[in-house]
Amino acid sequence: MEVITTKSGRPALWEEGGSASNTGSAVIVAGPQGERLPPVYIRRKGSLSNDRHALIPVVKGCHVIKASHHREDFNIAVDRIVAVDGTEAVTERVTEFRDGEWSSPLPENLTVAIGVAKQKATTYHCRSPLFVATHPCKGCGVETAVNYDYCRLCQSIKA
Ligand SMILES: [Zn+2]
Repeated sequence: MEVITTKSGRPALWEEGGSASNTGSAVIVAGPQGERLPPVYIRRKGSLSNDRHALIPVVKGCHVIKASHHREDFNIAVDRIVAVDGTEAVTERVTEFRDGEWSSPLPENLTVAIGVAKQKATTYHCRSPLFVATHPCKGCGVETAVNYDYCRLCQSIKA
């Protein structure tokens, strides 16, 4: 699958998606252990509804979960990145959900991320990332999703 290159030259993927009335889709990015990853960028302006929400750097071993549904009848694909070459990520299929069952046993450490993928795909007009790591701001302690030392508020005070 195609990957974005961040300004600092790292490969990255978008968490994106949300739901309309009867159908929806979502892409969730998880770490090698199924964990939340820190984004480098979170979109806050422009078209956000069911759109791209957070840009998340990826490395070999990360997981990409793509879920779609029609009236909550889900198709889900779980892929693992095995290599990144320029703007192309080579992936292998871990498992997929179709016609009501998984093609192979679901890795336990991915159940939370897959649950969030289903949640995002069914969140009506989703406008924000649902599966990203947060960090406490060094200034005020508020949890922020982007891995900056200081939150937006503290940065504006420091400036
Ligand atoms: Zn702060």
